[in-house]
Amino acid sequence: MIHAVIGGGAAGIFAALRCKSQHPDAQVVVFEKTNQLLAKVRISGGGRCNVTHACFDPKQLVQNYPRGAKELLGPFHSFQPKDTIAWFEARGVTLKTEADGRMFPITDSSQTIIDCLLAEADKIGVEIRKQAKIESVVKVEGGFLIDQMRVDRLILATGSSSFGYQVAKSFGHSIVEPVPSLFTFNVPTSNLLDLAGISVPHAVLTIKETGHRQEGPLLITHWGFSGPAALKLSAWAARELHDLDYKATLVIQWTDTESFLERKGYPAIPRNLLVRLGINPAVPMRTLSNKVLSQMGEKLSADAYAVEGKTTYKQEFVTAGGIHLKEVDFKTMQSRITPGLFFAGEILNIDGITGGFNFQNAWTTGWLAGNAS
Ligand SMILES: Cc1cc2nc3c(=O)[nH]c(=O)nc-3n(C[C@H](O)[C@H](O)[C@H](O)COP(=O)(O)OP(=O)(O)OC[C@H]3O[C@@H](n4cnc5c(N)ncnc54)[C@H](O)[C@@H]3O)c2cc1C
Repeated sequence: MIHAVIGGGAAGIFAALRCKSQHPDAQVVVFEKTNQLLAKVRISGGGRCNVTHACFDPKQLVQNYPRGAKELLGPFHSFQPKDTIAWFEARGVTLKTEADGRMFPITDSSQTIIDCLLAEADKIGVEIRKQAKIESVVKVEGGFLIDQMRVDRLILATGSSSFGYQVAKSFGHSIVEPVPSLFTFNVPTSNLLDLAGISVPHAVLTIKETGHRQEGPLLITHWGFSGPAALKLSAWAARELHDLDYKATLVIQWTDTESFLERKGYPAIPRNLLVRLGINPAVPMRTLSNKVLSQMGEKLSADAYAVEGKTTYKQEFVTAGGIHLKEVDFKTMQSRITPGLFFAGEILNIDGITGGFNFQNAWTTGWLAGNAS
C-alpha cells in the first residue's frame, strides 16, 4: 500500500506521521515542491512558532474560526490543543503558554518544532522527497497516478497553492474563492499616524458598511491600525472587505465613556491620544459644558476613519477560502466525491484568527486525514 501526501507543510507532515504510525508496513511518501520543509513553521510567530492556543473546550475553540467553526467541532473532539501539547511533550518538546493564551515551544524557536517533526519522520520511516513538484494527479482504478507514480491513497495538503485547488476541481470539488485574511488597516488620511506605537487596551471596532464588530487591544501604526482587535476584524470580515476592495469606514470606540459622561474623570487612555482626539485632560471636567462633554463622548465612542487598503500582518497571515467544506467528511477528512482522496490544512475553506488556531487546524485535520487514509 502506498500513501502519498502532497505538501510538506505542517498539515502534510503531521498527516504523514499519523498515517505511518497507523500503517507501519505501508510506504508513506511526502512530496514537497521546494527544498524547504515546514517553511511556514520556520517563519511563523516571528520565528517562535505559535504552535497552538491554550483553549481546551472544543465549543469555545471553534469560536476562533471565522470559517470552519461548525465543521471543526467534531474533529476537535478527536484531536485538540491538549493532544497537540501531549504529542510534542511525548517527543521531548515542552510548550509554554503566554498571558494571552498563545503557546510556543519553551525554546522560543520554531526550529525546535521543525526538528521534532522531522526527527519523528526519520524515526518511523516516512519518506520525504524535497524539490519534488507534482505536476499532475489523475484517478486510476483503485488509486491515483501522481506524475509517474501509482499510489493507493492521496492526502492533498498544498496550503493555498493554486495547484491543490486545480487537482481538487479536477475531481469534482468546488473551491470557495481564496481571499486574504489577517491583515491590518491602511488609513492614509488618519491624523494619528505620527502616534504610531500607542495602543489602547480595549477598543471596539465596527465596519460601518458591513456591521462587523470586534473588540480588544488596538494599536496605532505608521499606516493606520493593527493589534488584536483589528486583526480579528480583518478575519471575520475578510470576504466582505475583499468585495469592498478594502475601502470601508472603520468606526472606533476608544474606550467605555460611561464614567466620563458622568463627569467621573477622563478616560484612562494615553494622554497624547486624548489630546489628538480633541480632549485636553488638563481642563477640569466641571468646566466643560454639557454640549462639549457630549461632543467629546461622541468622539471617544464613534470615531470614524476611511480605510483605503490593507497591509499583510507579518507575524501570521492566512487564506480564507478553499475546498468547500460540505464536500468533505470531517470524521476522516476524506472527499465525499472521490474516495481515497483526503484533505488537510489550509487548502480547506477553514481559517482561524491569529493566536495559534491556524496551526491547530493543520494538526487536527492532518491527524484525522493521516488516521483514516
Ligand atoms: C508569516 C506567517 C506566519 C504565521 N504564523 C503562524 C503562527 O504563529 N501560528 C499559526 O497558527 N499560524 C501561523 N501562520 C499560518 C500557518 O502557517 C498556516 O495556516 C499553516 O502553515 C498551513 O499549513 P499547510 O500545511 O496547510 O500549508 P502550507 O504550510 O502552505 O504548506 C503547503 C506546502 O505544499 C507545497 N506544495 C504546493 N504545491 C505543491 C506541488 N505541486 N507539489 C509539491 N508540493 C507542493 C508548498 O510548497 C508548501 O510547502 C502563519 C502564516 C504566515 C504566512
